[in-house]
Amino acid sequence: MNPMMVAIRVGAGDKIWPLASSGKERENFALRIEHVLVIIVGLILVALLSCFLIFSSVISGLGNGRNQGFRSGAPTAFAVADIPPQFLPVFLRAQEKYGVSWAVLAAICRVETEFGKNVAVSEAGAIGLMQFMPATFEQYKQDGDSDGVYDPHNPRDAIYSAANMLKAGGFSTDPRGAIFNYNHARWYVNKIMDFAAQYSSMAIPVGNGLWPLPAQHIRIESGYGTRRHPIRQRYHFHDGIDIPAPVGTPVMAVQDGRVDWNREKGEYGLCVVLDHGGCRSLYAHLSGITVKSGEAVKAGQVIGFVGSTGLSTGPHLHFSVYVNGQPSNPEEWLAASSGNS
Ligand SMILES: [Zn+2]
Repeated sequence: MNPMMVAIRVGAGDKIWPLASSGKERENFALRIEHVLVIIVGLILVALLSCFLIFSSVISGLGNGRNQGFRSGAPTAFAVADIPPQFLPVFLRAQEKYGVSWAVLAAICRVETEFGKNVAVSEAGAIGLMQFMPATFEQYKQDGDSDGVYDPHNPRDAIYSAANMLKAGGFSTDPRGAIFNYNHARWYVNKIMDFAAQYSSMAIPVGNGLWPLPAQHIRIESGYGTRRHPIRQRYHFHDGIDIPAPVGTPVMAVQDGRVDWNREKGEYGLCVVLDHGGCRSLYAHLSGITVKSGEAVKAGQVIGFVGSTGLSTGPHLHFSVYVNGQPSNPEEWLAASSGNS
């Protein structure tokens, strides 16, 4: 549309031509022409700049969609048929430990050695189940089965080492780049992503959840992981994060989803569980609930209010995220741009 505007201006400039007759008029005319030219050049620059801005924003928008780490949801029927049953839990555990899609790890194992059916040393010298180059294995090796030996032929060691390498390669922000790091070929990245999509149709992006409380309540009092229980005074695994806030503070859905649970649940007290498809979020110790079971909710919608019900030392929100039924670090699911930044 901008080139059209330039054309109209040129047309307006043409009108000036026949008016030029005397010397003074010609001088004025030359000045006018100069002005018109400056305007035309200016308009062309503006047009080019706006095209560039639109183009670059589209490109970066695409990039944001593509360059985001993800975990994978439940295995498809194809995955269950294709992946040996002793390997599947190892891929799932590696996803929880390293934050790397289990389906991507399974796809790499499939493409590299067909799950161990073809583990001969490759022409390039790669070894083991996940076909590491020896020097790369040295760099990223993990003792997945904790037997004191780093063995590229052991499934736990090899798969955890691959997950560790993908994590170090930036899987959480650029999964394709991390896979490219593994084997430097575009076709390889595409093949892995294709297999991963067949193994699990659900790719759950990390870092796109909203903060579950108003922005002034951003302090995490107790994080995810092993800790000393504040009431029982013994070590246990804390499967979520605790965010203190006064009773009655509104609690919001972190992503679009459906209400899976909206009543008492043991130590969690009154709580809401939302199903996001492959991933669930839990909001515990509430004083009240505003949503019905089965109801569809939008990200940011108020679903209840902070309380201290169940086993709790004071008013706070306990927030958990589960992927494939396994607890996952909630901080990874909350957008960096929301309250926790
Ligand atoms: Zn808690």
